[in-house]
Amino acid sequence: KAKSDGRNHLVVYTPELSVEHDEHLAFEVDLRDAMRAGQFQLVYQPIYNPRSGSVTLVEALLRWDHPQRGVVSPATFVPVAERTGLIKVLGTWAIETAVRAALAWPRNVGVSVNVSARQFESDHDLVAIVAAILRKTGLPPRRLTLEITESTLIEDAPHIIESLKKLRAMGVRIALDDFGTGYSSLSYLAKLPIDIIKIDKTFSHEIDSSVKVNALMTAITDLAHKLGLSIIVEGIETAAQLAVMRRFSLHGIQGFILAKPMSDEALLAIIKDRVASDRMSLVGDLTAP
Ligand code: C2E
Ligand code: MG
Ligand code: MG
Ligand code: MG
Repeated sequence: KAKSDGRNHLVVYTPELSVEHDEHLAFEVDLRDAMRAGQFQLVYQPIYNPRSGSVTLVEALLRWDHPQRGVVSPATFVPVAERTGLIKVLGTWAIETAVRAALAWPRNVGVSVNVSARQFESDHDLVAIVAAILRKTGLPPRRLTLEITESTLIEDAPHIIESLKKLRAMGVRIALDDFGTGYSSLSYLAKLPIDIIKIDKTFSHEIDSSVKVNALMTAITDLAHKLGLSIIVEGIETAAQLAVMRRFSLHGIQGFILAKPMSDEALLAIIKDRVASDRMSLVGDLTAP
């Protein structure tokens, strides 16, 4: 692709680089404006206890309501926000907004917020930020879970692990997100300061077709129980996947078949109406084999 720089000569770019670069620049500028204009929102996806069918935890997920592009997925803008460092201010906003939303929920329902590696950088004291949010809102620390991906922990382990220990000492729970997509061995799990393992949707999607995935699920759930860790599976989309997953001893099930991410108002209605347990019994036999 050739592009005029506005004067009389042409500047030649390689196509992919140019498109990617322009996209990123546009996003960077937009992200800063979006923050000021209040275009970010959180949506909430309930996580169900497979035995009781009730909601035990709710994951908060960022959305960007862009005036021209419409709703932009975090898969698109979170990597840009991470690269520019804007994820620090955006991430703090997400934690505080999610914690404030949780104040309106029953006391046994927790809130889970994703955090990026950059939020643990030394110029940004995440432990102090979380402590301040909990103090000023009064949310009991046990009702807050922070989700961190496997790959994040491997990239910058020692420093992040120290912060995670401090957060856990405060009573905040830590979930290892997207488990199964990184490189960590099962024995590595024993060393991490975590409370919950969230099994990635790629596992869930193969569960009804793959003998190997079934064997892995058995191994992971056995080990998790021995280590005292809770297990949540994410990305359950079909009744077949739900039926297979319910053979394992799980603490939480999350997926489109049960509920998609929704507004805080819609979530409140779901928690109150106990739609959760109805939905659970609709899609499967409540008595596990
Ligand atoms: P994640 O933390 O693994 O979140 C789960 C993603 O799976 C969400 O995508 C959710 O909408 C989607 N999902 C839930 N159930 C199903 C299902 O049954 N099938 C399928 N195919 N997908 C399902 P979403 O909302 O687009 O978020 C993508 C990622 O963006 C998140 O993945 C997380 O890593 C990141 N993200 C979202 N919000 C934040 C945030 O506040 N801070 C940071 N740092 N990252 C965030
Ligand atoms: Mg997550
Ligand atoms: Mg994540
Ligand atoms: Mg995940």
